[in-house]
Amino acid sequence: MKLNRNLYLYSFLAKFSLLKKSYTAKIMSVAFLGTHVPLLTLLFCFVTSNSYSWEMAIRVLLIALLATLTGTAATLYALHYLLAPVILTSAALQDYLHTKKLPELPTEYADEAGTLMADTAQTLHKLDELIHQISNYDNLTGLPNRDLFCDRLYQNISQSQNQQMVAVLLLGIDDFTGISHGLEHEKSNLLLRSVAQRLTNCIGQTDILAHLSQDEFAIAHIDILSFESVIKLSQLLLSTISKPFFIDGQQIHITASIGITINHIGDRHYVDQLLQQAHIALYQAKQQGRSQYRFYSPEINARLQERLTIENELRGALERGEMVVYYQPLIDLQTRQITALEALVRWQHPTRGLVSPAQFIPIAEDNGLIISIGEWVLRTACAQNRAWQLAGIEPIRMSVNLSARQFEKPNLVEVVKQVLQETDLAASYLELEVTESFLMGDIQHSVKTLKQLRELGLWIALDDFGTGYSSLNYLNRFPVNMLKIDRSFVQNVTSNSDSAAVTDAIIALAKSLQLKITAEGVETQEQLEYLQQRGCQEGQGFYFGIPAPADKITDLLKHNSRQLEHIVA
Ligand code: C2E
Ligand code: MG
Ligand code: MG
Repeated sequence: MKLNRNLYLYSFLAKFSLLKKSYTAKIMSVAFLGTHVPLLTLLFCFVTSNSYSWEMAIRVLLIALLATLTGTAATLYALHYLLAPVILTSAALQDYLHTKKLPELPTEYADEAGTLMADTAQTLHKLDELIHQISNYDNLTGLPNRDLFCDRLYQNISQSQNQQMVAVLLLGIDDFTGISHGLEHEKSNLLLRSVAQRLTNCIGQTDILAHLSQDEFAIAHIDILSFESVIKLSQLLLSTISKPFFIDGQQIHITASIGITINHIGDRHYVDQLLQQAHIALYQAKQQGRSQYRFYSPEINARLQERLTIENELRGALERGEMVVYYQPLIDLQTRQITALEALVRWQHPTRGLVSPAQFIPIAEDNGLIISIGEWVLRTACAQNRAWQLAGIEPIRMSVNLSARQFEKPNLVEVVKQVLQETDLAASYLELEVTESFLMGDIQHSVKTLKQLRELGLWIALDDFGTGYSSLNYLNRFPVNMLKIDRSFVQNVTSNSDSAAVTDAIIALAKSLQLKITAEGVETQEQLEYLQQRGCQEGQGFYFGIPAPADKITDLLKHNSRQLEHIVA
């Protein structure tokens, strides 16, 4: 490092071990040398050049030496005190560094040393405030952050005399990611600020409100009088949030869910536990649907732990080659021949065994892993279908399930096109299964995407038909080829008149819209006969065959040219 010229003497003196550690010693040595050396040299010359007697010379020298020593001692003494501002400032900085204790330095002096003390004190105070602000408050909403929330909650409780009950409410905006996607960044920030403002207006004076993460706010309701008061507060919060927001001239509707835990507070660590419990309850509330509140319970906790484990293990499962595709035949109910296969993914877990998609697909949908898993299933199923064709087997349709997350991706059509090219499969041998519920999200986008997919030449089936929201109005607009009657109706078709009525209605609807129709979950001869009578074209279910790995299906397909009475996997 280049040395500042002003520091040459200082750094030179710092080389002497005796002076190294003390700034005062450096100043004193210089003062001492500065006063003694010239004076004594002068005296010595004076005495030796005037022919004094030895006695006289020694006397003069002694007196001069004594006087100089006394003078120097007084100077050094004074210097020592004059150096006090520097020493004090340095000690104050050290103290702040090690103990975070703010210095009390004088601020009334105007010279350089005075400003050094005053500026140091002011800078440290400002720095401390800044650090406090940054580490305790959320800079978007100005509300306390998680750390301050926990500290305040703990302080509050530990100061109280009797064992207080506290409710921790965790409020999460429903589908904030989706909402913020549709808004400019600045608008979604303004929205969060407005939410914070509304929440502040709802809570009581002793309550603590904090902004924990983007779409999550925590409220500690201290000194709760009754269960009802907590419920009332939750309802108030939910209704306040569901009133429209006006941001930059735009009207925005949002809803929120709340997870609640009520407990005593033990130690500081317990505050974190309360937040975790509220988090679990929030998750449950969100599962129930929008604008709900829910209390924490240990059973929920256990289920969530399991989910978390699966979620962690699911990451990388695809890369580790743990995913496999099973195939289930779809049968023409008249000819009893296999007309298609549905690709159904399974997770070959190293310790849990074969995990059903019902267990991991919802998790993969939540964390987005479904995008890569879904694309892999599509590629594997198309490649397998082509491989069967190349092996000389009669070509059939391959049906692949699409998830909502895949459907939302703008490059879906491109991906499907690319997979078809890569696997060299003609589009007419691919069918994609979509569900009504996710088509109903953004109808315009759904219609556009379905049209583009159909233009590729592939088939679209509406899976689990009858279980979603009523979409009869829109059914006409969705360019689909096929309805798959959900197995919940098929299963009771011979025992429950309502299920039979729904099944009949769906078959009639499909006919009038000129759509093909498949019944899912056919398990018995009676169900099959019922469906045949009503004119249902295709069936899928354990009665014909359970989902099986490709090699088992190969044998089935080889016999497919024959009329199939029963296909048992
Ligand atoms: P789905 O698309 O409705 O698939 C039919 C489900 O019904 C399959 O369950 C199948 O094994 C089951 N099933 C078929 N016949 C019968 C029957 O006769 N009786 C009964 N009780 N069940 C029958 P699976 O394989 O467990 O798949 C469950 C769901 O997971 C699927 O429902 C589908 O929504 C989803 N899924 C499976 N694979 C994928 C995939 O690759 N991507 C996506 N996004 N979802 C998938
Ligand atoms: Mg399906
Ligand atoms: Mg289905």
